Amino acid sequence: MRVCAAAGVPMVVRGAGTGYTGGAVPVAGGVVISMERFTRILEIDPLNLVAVVEPQVITGDLQRAVEAVGLFYPPDPASLEQSSIGGNVAECAGGPRAFKYGTTKRYVLGLEAVLPTGEVIRTGSKAVKNVVGYDLTQLLVGSEGTLAIITQVTLRLIPRPSARAVILAGFSGVGPAVDAVTALIARRVVPAAVEFIDDRSLDALRRHAPSTAIPADATAMLIAEVDGTPAAVEADATAVTAAFRSTGARGVVRADGAAEIEAIWTLRRQLSYALRATGLTKINHDVVVPRGRVPALMETVAALRRELDLDIACFGHAGDGNIHVNVMIPPGDADARARGAEAESRLFAAVVALEGSISGEHGIGFTKARFLGLELDAAQIALMRRVKAAFDPAGLLNPGKIFPTDTEETWQRSR
Ligand SMILES: Cc1cc2nc3c(=O)[nH]c(=O)nc-3n(C[C@H](O)[C@H](O)[C@H](O)COP(=O)(O)OP(=O)(O)OC[C@H]3O[C@@H](n4cnc5c(N)ncnc54)[C@H](O)[C@@H]3O)c2cc1C
Repeated sequence: MRVCAAAGVPMVVRGAGTGYTGGAVPVAGGVVISMERFTRILEIDPLNLVAVVEPQVITGDLQRAVEAVGLFYPPDPASLEQSSIGGNVAECAGGPRAFKYGTTKRYVLGLEAVLPTGEVIRTGSKAVKNVVGYDLTQLLVGSEGTLAIITQVTLRLIPRPSARAVILAGFSGVGPAVDAVTALIARRVVPAAVEFIDDRSLDALRRHAPSTAIPADATAMLIAEVDGTPAAVEADATAVTAAFRSTGARGVVRADGAAEIEAIWTLRRQLSYALRATGLTKINHDVVVPRGRVPALMETVAALRRELDLDIACFGHAGDGNIHVNVMIPPGDADARARGAEAESRLFAAVVALEGSISGEHGIGFTKARFLGLELDAAQIALMRRVKAAFDPAGLLNPGKIFPTDTEETWQRSR
């Protein structure tokens, strides 16, 4: 990094390359720094409940390693068999279990990082409390590779829950499925995860990964996981089933064994691939609204489908209001692409009006940079630019990400 800084060459760090907003793409040229040799789990410390890892450890590998000693690392992006811990930290990745356990940031205690100027910093420690100075650890979480390269991560672990169960249910449409989540929250049950799948996503899944678990006549589906002690799992599974049935669930399946549970989650993780296998171009938005406003979000999506004549498939983390809205465009159809762009603008404006956010998990990268001003005011963006300049005075690390270009700012003002 010192060599690049001296020569004024842009640098882009790349983890596993699964990011959805182009963060690891060198849009301004320069050097791409691969982390592929940083693959060691350096330490699993069962006394202090921490793991110290290099950034290119694959998320699923870390989970299996800590579970083997009775511990648990909850963040579970659907990409967990490919994505890296460094990429997860840089994007503050979420996943189904964020409903109960929170996203990656809750588990990052400390970092080693290299600044674009070549200085190495160590932030935080194995201690769970630390209020000395500004919290640079959390500033780097979600910084999308624009402030520093993360070379080591100290992660908080928790004890592995002793029991789990998964409940899958079919519904006749989005309305009853969304109402079932509301009914569940009203019963004060906090499952580890509640995932929602709409009719278009279900159709794609049926074609791509046929499974008898998918209720034949369902036009929406929910998957909930509960975990904890065996008694708590029993009580929560009963409450989840009752909440689902209260809005007309059918084909309810309950899985208790590890293999059956994994089969259901593997099915869920096929969704992105199933939509891609339709042959349509999938333009993925990961908007989030306060969970009580998911019905309003789904009404917005229905209006976009109708008014712009677009195929839109939705699935995602209903428990925390983070729904993946996928606009499906026939390849080469310029008119549909233009309508898709209009849908994106209207969707983002709607979620901001619903007090939500244009990205719950995937970050801004360069694909959403032109919308930054829709959610953040000028003072916040100016402050963020000053933070960026403090870490990276020459603007060499991952240029073109998060902040809009001058042209994009003009476009945003004209809207
Ligand atoms: C099928 C599929 C399902 C997905 N499901 C989810 C999901 O459920 N939840 C979710 O949150 N995301 C999901 N994602 C998005 C993606 O997997 C996450 O954003 C993930 O955290 C990216 O990790 P990566 O290692 O692939 O990072 P990359 O794509 O390589 O990089 C992403 C960004 O992080 C930066 N970066 C990478 N490594 C470092 C490092 N060591 N130091 C500093 N910056 C770094 C890069 O510069 C870039 O800006 C999914 C993606 C796919 C393809």
